[in-house]
Amino acid sequence: GTTGTAAVDSEALAVLRRVFGYEAFRGEQEAVIEHVVAGGDAVVLMPTGGGKSLCYQIPSLVRPGTGIVVSPLIALMQDQVDALRALGVRAGFMNSTQDFDERRTVEAEYLAGELDLLYLAPERLRLENTLDLLSRGKIAVFAIDEAHCVSQWGHDFRPDYLSLSLLGERWPDVPRLALTATATHATHQEITERLHMPAARHFVASFDRPNIQYRIVSKTDPKKQLLNFLREEHAGDAGIVYCLSRNSVDKTAEFLSRNGVRAVPYHAGLDAGTRAAHQSRFLREDGLVVVATIAFGMGIDKPDVRFVAHLDLPKSVEGYYQETGRAGRDGLPSTAWMAYGLNDVIQQRKLIQSGEGDEAFRRRAQSHLDAMLALCETVRCRRGQLLAYFGQDPDRPGCGNCDTCLTTPETWDGTVAAQKVLSTVVRLKRERGQKFGAGQIIDILLGKRSAKVIQFDHDQLSVFGIGEDLAEAEWRGVVRQLLAQGLLAVEGEYGTLVLTDDSATVLRREREVPLRKEPKKPAAAARASGG
Ligand code: ADP
Ligand code: ZN
Repeated sequence: GTTGTAAVDSEALAVLRRVFGYEAFRGEQEAVIEHVVAGGDAVVLMPTGGGKSLCYQIPSLVRPGTGIVVSPLIALMQDQVDALRALGVRAGFMNSTQDFDERRTVEAEYLAGELDLLYLAPERLRLENTLDLLSRGKIAVFAIDEAHCVSQWGHDFRPDYLSLSLLGERWPDVPRLALTATATHATHQEITERLHMPAARHFVASFDRPNIQYRIVSKTDPKKQLLNFLREEHAGDAGIVYCLSRNSVDKTAEFLSRNGVRAVPYHAGLDAGTRAAHQSRFLREDGLVVVATIAFGMGIDKPDVRFVAHLDLPKSVEGYYQETGRAGRDGLPSTAWMAYGLNDVIQQRKLIQSGEGDEAFRRRAQSHLDAMLALCETVRCRRGQLLAYFGQDPDRPGCGNCDTCLTTPETWDGTVAAQKVLSTVVRLKRERGQKFGAGQIIDILLGKRSAKVIQFDHDQLSVFGIGEDLAEAEWRGVVRQLLAQGLLAVEGEYGTLVLTDDSATVLRREREVPLRKEPKKPAAAARASGG
């Protein structure tokens, strides 16, 4: 008679144990499954590794008919289906990689009611003959995986997702389940609206990954810093190193190999065979490091990834969270480590300026980057900032397992330093009509007679040498933080520094500019002592 007994008796729990071999549900799984089995719509937000798949797989098995799973990850469908079949689940998929015969077989199985689960690419559902096929069989539930792809504000937007709203119109009695690991409050709202799921119940799991230690260090010599990090804390561990370009992926993988770390590259420029080989080695072997562009990792389920390192700045907090989330799925202590510096900010700002897309697109990219920069420059708990970005726990205390909690960053009043930088930018613009980047500004402040300083008579400027009180690394930190705070901007393909609307308030001494102190040497943050 207790509720506990009712749960034990439930068919869903029986399926969990009999088919999947797990003892108990995790987190929100049970509530989601109960709701969907009873016919309700649901929007499920769960971090990567949280166990989203069971939320639709079990209702598909419990309810009569076939569960239709919409997923953009075509490359993974075969694996997912194979894994399910190995458990005795009758699963199939339909996508562009199949030939006519294969597709006909799956169609026949579906119509005969012989499938528990059918995976489809979203573009299939725009085709009338697919919809027609579906309506000739019995559907248990629609699961829309990676539902954030419906959001035009996000980084994974797929136009085909917009047409998924018609599923609810055409099959009003079939429960729908939208799932994602990536959702700010705005994306969440967009999923609900664009998929027309006003009556859906929302299940939001905590996005906290307490076993991941977040650290962001000041970039000086990134490859060397990475090597030290690996040697000191992750010798022999499996991990992923993310770089922005294919070239730096190749160079970094080579560098690590030369220095005794087993590392392989992964990027879209390698042929498919090499990519597949490196990916499967990563999954099978112990302690292999994959150096990759962000092309690597989506859908990869390796529980013992001990670290994720970023040598370049991700474009958004969503991206950062997703990439770092590949560490520590097994719950054991893991590290999310990133090296970040002035050039990252300039490079990313330049990419946005010179990239494709209209003004609105650029503004969105800019605001994504600004949130990422704020995370890099924060003096607060990184985890707190990260969760607050996703709208969770805005007032939580420090976590004790991130670099800013382990060593509170010092701040200083950078108002005068900021004025020095900004007035140099003003002078260069006024006196020369020429445009210069961060390097020239810093040389002038330091009173360096470099060739380029002499060439443009910059040693004659009144600001020449007014910054001798700070070291070069410190000036780079000042410029970086001014860029991050929107007090300086980057223009054009050469990364020219220009003032922003807010710069004037600093020059007029109307506001103060608190800055983070640059560490004298890269902070060797303490390892978390057993959680
Ligand atoms: P997501 O899709 O949210 O990233 P998955 O559905 O792939 O996560 O699940 C992540 C891992 O957790 C998988 O290896 C899965 O088998 C495992 N898992 C999920 N639910 C449970 C559970 N209730 N008990 C034990 N393991 C689980
Ligand atoms: Zn913290």
